[in-house]
Amino acid sequence: MIVRRRWTAAATTAILFSAVLSHPGPGSAAPADPATPITLSTGETALVRVQLRDQAQLDRLVATGADLANRPRARDGRILADLVLTGAQLAELTAQGATAVQVVQRAEDGSQHYADSVRAAQARTAAGLRAPAAGQRTTAAAAVDTLQVQQAYWWTTGGQAFLQAQVATTATDDPDVEITVNWRTADGVTGSFPLGRFEDSGEYQYHYALPQPVPSRPVQLSATSSLGGVSRVITPTLWPNAAPPPLPAGYQKDFIDAYLTPTDIQARIKRLARQYRDLVDVIDLPNKTQGYRRNAVAYLGDPTVGAVVVESVRFGDQGMNGVQVRTVDPGRRNRPLTVGYRDRVLTVSLATDTAGKTVSTTDEVAAAINARQPGRFQATVEDGSAGLPMPVAGPARLDDGLQGTEVPARPWTVQALRLGVHRDGSRVGVLAYSQEHAREWATPLVTLEFAERMLANARTDPATRELLEQVDIFVIPMVNPDGANYSFNDFNFQRKNLVNHCTGPARDPKNRTSWGVDINRNYTVGSYFDGYVGGSANCLSGTYSGTAELSEAESSNVIALAQAHSNIKFAMNVHSYGGYFMWPPGAYRADGRITLPRPSIDESTLFLNSARRIVGAITQERGTVTWPSQTGPVADVLYSAAGNSADQLYYELGIFAWDFEVGNDRWNPATSEWEAVGFQPPFDEAHGESQEYAGGLVELVRVARDYAAAQPAP
Ligand SMILES: [Zn+2]
Repeated sequence: MIVRRRWTAAATTAILFSAVLSHPGPGSAAPADPATPITLSTGETALVRVQLRDQAQLDRLVATGADLANRPRARDGRILADLVLTGAQLAELTAQGATAVQVVQRAEDGSQHYADSVRAAQARTAAGLRAPAAGQRTTAAAAVDTLQVQQAYWWTTGGQAFLQAQVATTATDDPDVEITVNWRTADGVTGSFPLGRFEDSGEYQYHYALPQPVPSRPVQLSATSSLGGVSRVITPTLWPNAAPPPLPAGYQKDFIDAYLTPTDIQARIKRLARQYRDLVDVIDLPNKTQGYRRNAVAYLGDPTVGAVVVESVRFGDQGMNGVQVRTVDPGRRNRPLTVGYRDRVLTVSLATDTAGKTVSTTDEVAAAINARQPGRFQATVEDGSAGLPMPVAGPARLDDGLQGTEVPARPWTVQALRLGVHRDGSRVGVLAYSQEHAREWATPLVTLEFAERMLANARTDPATRELLEQVDIFVIPMVNPDGANYSFNDFNFQRKNLVNHCTGPARDPKNRTSWGVDINRNYTVGSYFDGYVGGSANCLSGTYSGTAELSEAESSNVIALAQAHSNIKFAMNVHSYGGYFMWPPGAYRADGRITLPRPSIDESTLFLNSARRIVGAITQERGTVTWPSQTGPVADVLYSAAGNSADQLYYELGIFAWDFEVGNDRWNPATSEWEAVGFQPPFDEAHGESQEYAGGLVELVRVARDYAAAQPAP
């Protein structure tokens, strides 16, 4: 164990974040009182649901690498986006016509929230829902377009019926077409609601709306447009209309009672292996991660007058935390610039002129450090300090800035659990993996709950035993442990890993919460490097794709496991949040929106039918229904995600590869709004997600068993 000290340099984000530690925790995040506009203080960072002014504003955000938490949704023709942003960024958006509608979660160091979850009582709440009033009707003019209802589904959750529709107009290029859906229930109640236009990558897709509450089962639906178009009258279909077998008496579940850190997860894996020796192997994945480590760094000088960023070549924990750096005036005339390192102090003696005045610039000092101490230090001119005179400064103390005091500072071995009676490749394989993105704390709860359900019930429930006879299950609960440690201890919105590939001014520690590689953009199929949309070459972007395909240990581990076990035929990549169920293609090229190849008709049918079964199983736990509009290919229902893992598993290894985004929006009957749950909801919500999505993974195992049983004998 290493005792770590707090980062102390001025003007860093860590200091700014410390100012928000006294804010109420994420559990208090509440929908806005419409009378009070939502603002953040300038340096504060939060996850905020924002109603954008128009598509152009969204496009600008995407182009500038905004941290979009999920796909922006149309509501009454306007666009809702969930963004991780600072108070200054929110103020700028607001000035451009956007409105914040919900603070989903605020930035914090994560540790308090984790502690709260550990202490949390396991009380569960179930939302009571009631019906709001129906919408308004609009009048049609002379018909110049034709409407096609592409989807119309209804369902009931928590006693409330919902209706969702997707309608396409033939007037695809007219951005002003308004489409209204009219519905009628079995007992004759009628109503209507407007749809919003949905464009993606500049191309019209269809009109749709979020699920609308209706008083009871809708039996008729039609659409009209402002151009006079009228659709056929159709009967909405029940969604998902699939239910898993009922759980037998005595079925064991609920093995999750708090959020789990990487250390907790390691201990859980060990315990499961010991407790269920006959059914479990633990697989150490081949590529160790960097570990929870950073280079030690300090500002030499002052960013407001002229500074050089000096960092250690080795990590802070490798003896470099506490090393000092200073500039000195030699006190004599005509001295050259010199660099010396002794007794853990790096001393730069500045050059002087004939009058004895120091004359070295920031650039000269940085260059001298790099030339004279290349194995030990690297220096860059602070952004904005280029060419400035270097002041006499220091000593400044180098530090890695990491705040986790109980995290081992060494490379991490990522582990997989292998569950089954026959773990020899003779049975069809299923792979479930989670927490590629560090901040998605609920996701390992899902995979670990799933694993323990299979193991515990194998001893008592013949149906579970039979599944473990027929299926070989692989689980990687936590793909990205270093990022997860950073999320728990330093910056809760951390998405990427901890490897810093930045060079030059981007290495300034003020960017410390923006470093790292997006693991789920670092794979080889449909990647940023192949010209696909949704990855970035900017090392500070939330979707930074790395220096090359599979440049990272974390992504290489997932593929290594899948390649080593050719019996794996199904995979589920568990993310949060938003309530999505998706499959390939997951990426397209910007020019012409050309996706990776579509699955065949047969495979598409397997994807959709299996999805309905799995959505049905998720629903069983607490009535959560993953919307039909969010069930489908990634590129269609979420966004293009260049170089994601599911695409590599499917296109390269022939695995039916899905993605969950757990954490469905919750319906608030008081405001008639769907509310986002965020990455680290109050523990009760995360617990609910773990239970319902673990049920979905059990159904995936049944899907795999049924698939294998239907194959002709070899
Ligand atoms: Zn994710």
